[in-house]
Amino acid sequence: DKFNIAIDGPAGAGKSTIARLVAGALGFIYVDTGAMYRAVTWKVQQEGLLPEQETEVAALSNRMKLELIPGEEGQQVFVDGVDVTKAIRSAEVTTHVSQIASYGAVRHLLVALQKQMTVSKGVVMDGRDIGTHVMPDAEIKVFLTASVEERAERRFKELELSGTNTLTLSELEQDIARRDQFDEAREISPLRKAHDAVLMDSTSMTIEEVVDEILGLCKD
Ligand code: C5P
Repeated sequence: DKFNIAIDGPAGAGKSTIARLVAGALGFIYVDTGAMYRAVTWKVQQEGLLPEQETEVAALSNRMKLELIPGEEGQQVFVDGVDVTKAIRSAEVTTHVSQIASYGAVRHLLVALQKQMTVSKGVVMDGRDIGTHVMPDAEIKVFLTASVEERAERRFKELELSGTNTLTLSELEQDIARRDQFDEAREISPLRKAHDAVLMDSTSMTIEEVVDEILGLCKD
């Protein structure tokens, strides 16, 4: 029988890697909602709008065409037919995405799309407000966290490996902490653990251990 899994938590906690592996193990579809806010941010920058132009940003998000294509390697993202899968990971997008994600009109639009994707069940969705707002009825909810130092270190290694790192470890840590604060402080659906979510601190756990623990929850 199919069910839905919500995975929330702060930036760099390993949500996307873990959600993708859990989805693969269960034969479910993985949806990365952060990528949707990143895609809107990319389009805003592409159109030369400033992130503070809320009205224009809202209008643009409503007229752009956003497509998510689930795949073996993860999810591909298209904006108005352009493959932005890689581009939405840039430092420029990362710096401004939390501000774009704080706008009510943008959240309203993306949450509606996300809710549609969960109707047929068999979805593993990761984000910040999935257990609290997008799928309050998800059968399994996980709030995945790790110390900010550990999260910065993982991000650093990841960026170094892909040869795209331009930041120092402490700059990365500051950026992660700033984004968390912004996500926790916003008025609309802030980053919060749902009351019925299982808290997992992955600071000293391997990816496999976290995946196994989540798969274990699914058997209960
Ligand atoms: O998950 P990722 O780090 O790619 O998310 C980028 C940003 O998108 C987050 O820092 C947050 O501001 C926003 N976001 C959100 N709600 C979600 C997913 C992401 O506000 N469900």
